[in-house]
Amino acid sequence: MSEVQILASVETFLQRQHGHFIHGQHLEVDRRRIELINPATEQVVSSIAVGNQQDVDAAVHSAHDAFLNAWANTSSYERGQKLNKLADLVEQHAEELAQLETLTTGKLIHLARHLEVAQTAVFLRYFAGWATKIHGQTMQPSIPSMNGEKYTAYSIRQPVGVVAGIVPWNFSLMIGCWKIGSALTTGCTIVLKPSEFTTLSLLRLAELAIEAGIPAGVINVVTGTGETGQYLINANHIKKVSFTGSVPTGIAIGQQAMKNDLTRVSLELGGKNAAAILADANLDEILPTLLQATFVHQGQVCAAPERFFVHQSKYDEFVEKVTGAIQQIKIGSPLDESSMFGPLSNQPHFEKVKHYLDIANQNDQVICGGQVIQGTGYFVEPTLLKVQGIDDPLFIEETFGPVVDVIPFESDDELIRMMNHSRFGLTASIWTNDLAKALRLIPQIEAGSVWVNMHTFLDPSVPFGGVKASGLGREFSDAFIEDYTELKSVMIRY
Ligand code: NDP
Repeated sequence: MSEVQILASVETFLQRQHGHFIHGQHLEVDRRRIELINPATEQVVSSIAVGNQQDVDAAVHSAHDAFLNAWANTSSYERGQKLNKLADLVEQHAEELAQLETLTTGKLIHLARHLEVAQTAVFLRYFAGWATKIHGQTMQPSIPSMNGEKYTAYSIRQPVGVVAGIVPWNFSLMIGCWKIGSALTTGCTIVLKPSEFTTLSLLRLAELAIEAGIPAGVINVVTGTGETGQYLINANHIKKVSFTGSVPTGIAIGQQAMKNDLTRVSLELGGKNAAAILADANLDEILPTLLQATFVHQGQVCAAPERFFVHQSKYDEFVEKVTGAIQQIKIGSPLDESSMFGPLSNQPHFEKVKHYLDIANQNDQVICGGQVIQGTGYFVEPTLLKVQGIDDPLFIEETFGPVVDVIPFESDDELIRMMNHSRFGLTASIWTNDLAKALRLIPQIEAGSVWVNMHTFLDPSVPFGGVKASGLGREFSDAFIEDYTELKSVMIRY
């Protein structure tokens, strides 16, 4: 085993006494601190401050001031330019950001480099391109003219103001930058509250934003716990909440935002995503892609499948081949470039996944995997389970881990009924060469995204979001613009 060398700049950053990033400056605060743990070694790598009401108010005040002054006076062209410059700096500091992510999330280093950091730059550039393309419309009113007067009307899109961005721990840099990109390109400013488990990469990114020429106060980061997030949602001047996280927290936040004078809210929440393997699928062809999509980042991806539906005629072959493939997955240190599977990201999440594995072991539901790996670090095996019917908690509840069920089906009707038997509706996939059948099934599937012969692929040009309890609103494409802007109508008599 050989691990990548930690950069000196990363060591220095870890050793800092981190505070918040407010009005373009690292702000040291004397607050309760939380230790950041490397999930592969269980060692403390750094610590962060727990933001209180006063800290949040200072960050929101800075963002509001920057919204009214600095960012409002920055042309749309310059906004795009500065986001592109930030993307350049992300690329220049790619290894540093990737190592910070790996050390605090247990994400494989090659995934941190090639997915998280590389895609962060791709998304920032995509959003940068929108800055000069956001526009209203002209309309022709139908009011009758009594004395020869005429009417015209048009609409303009204006930024909503200060956005609260609440970010989960699984892809904090990338998801944080989805929110930054959406806010900044539309002319909004933002206060981010990263997860208490993975805070460092966004703190570093905020510094890079200043280097990119983004004015002080346009991006602020307040660190801390869920309580810090609460202060942020309820702060004066917050005009939109963009939340990514679990369903219970998302629903509570949505209700609260509504009570706060109808603050806009978009919610990207969890899933219990289905992959349907139809009778004609060639398993040897599809399994590498399907399993990669399933176990990427140890299954801690909201869009990844947790339920495999396999046509009865392929069930035994599928189970045998998936078992064989899972046994080949090399589990190891996330800093070792040859590892294929690392630890779960944090201890509470490890306990949650362990709880589901205990249930599966007690009920004799494990087909392969199912064990916690003894020793240091939050490692569990990638796991394939059979379920006891569609009301089995293992079929119903999101594990957000490398735990996937396999269920046989006979007819398309049965498949659709079982796939939709869920409170979630984030993503789904169909694996087949029968495109006509796939096209007939797609409209019947209750999910915000459906893939054919692929899964867990997000692209900035394709809208992303959930139906049912998986969320509200859409990110990316032109779909985000509605959420970050107000449409103002203007009518003129002349
Ligand atoms: P949580 O809902 O626990 O937390 C998400 C964020 O909200 C964190 O920053 C958290 O802070 C903060 N938070 C927690 N409680 C509150 C509160 N009462 N008020 C304001 N903020 C609060 O989710 P996880 O971080 O555990 O993320 C995993 C979940 O996120 C899974 O369900 C997953 O499916 C979903 N997810 C969805 C995605 C999507 O795009 N649809 C993408 C990624 C994840 P702290 O961490 O400090 O507690």
